Amino acid sequence: MSDTHQTASLITHEGCPWCESTRLKTRFETIDRSGSGEAFPIVECLECEFVFTQKVPTAETIGPYYDFDEYISHSDTKENLVDKTYHWVRERMLKRKYKLIKKHSQGDNLRILDYGSGTGYFLNYVKTMGWDVTGVEINEQARKVAKDKFGLNLNPPELFDQLRGPFEVISLWHVLEHLYDFKEKFQAFYQKLTSGGILVLALPNHTSLDSKWLKQDWAAYDTPRHLWHFAPKNIKLMAAKYGFQYEASYAMPFDAYYVSILSHQLKSKNVLSLLKGGFLGWLSNINCTFNPEKASSIIYILKKK
Ligand SMILES: [Zn+2]
Repeated sequence: MSDTHQTASLITHEGCPWCESTRLKTRFETIDRSGSGEAFPIVECLECEFVFTQKVPTAETIGPYYDFDEYISHSDTKENLVDKTYHWVRERMLKRKYKLIKKHSQGDNLRILDYGSGTGYFLNYVKTMGWDVTGVEINEQARKVAKDKFGLNLNPPELFDQLRGPFEVISLWHVLEHLYDFKEKFQAFYQKLTSGGILVLALPNHTSLDSKWLKQDWAAYDTPRHLWHFAPKNIKLMAAKYGFQYEASYAMPFDAYYVSILSHQLKSKNVLSLLKGGFLGWLSNINCTFNPEKASSIIYILKKK
């Protein structure tokens, strides 16, 4: 990007990464409470309302910021209530994702590319449903787990350009906000989709009630790992620019609880913060009952024209 410079392996955007306007405003700084403890500015474009993290490490230097346990995968033990709940939610979510994609696609044996597959739970689920699956995952350890556990051969991102297509579905579950080259990827996904194919994006939404309430303490800013903070308005603009029809959006109610509780627990880990977080998650879900674009996390369905 021409409006960007890098010093001491930090990226500073002089202009908006989306519209290039230099009318930028720092909202506040968020602290990386799950890892480094460092502070990062959250900046908003006054022209197009795109929100992004400023002074992030480069792609070459961000590695250590991902080096903490929870990020790779949750264990498969079912010892305590938290783990049991987590596994129950995961099963429900896998089923829901599968059903949503089916609803917006034609045919039974879909060819799907999942970008940022993690340890492969979602791909394995849809594979057992008869879909033809391809996955991309940057983390070597996660690729190994996917191989050992499910027999999935996930590709490192370097092989993305060579992946055979086309696909009826390309999915990114909480991944686009991590990609340095999100605009280039949007175009590449368009190229790899069939006509009428769908791009499925799950993303946190900073215009949700829980985000507005928690401000800099909202855990889904997750700096510096989340480089961009997309709102429905941004996704609509991107869809239009890159040749997609904005088909639908859906709330992810479990994410509201997860993010609200995590936000409180990162500050002080006790029963009261758990209850406060749970209550805020519940309020956030009530608030988006009739409008999924107000949800804490949103699944967007974009259709290739
Ligand atoms: Zn802008």
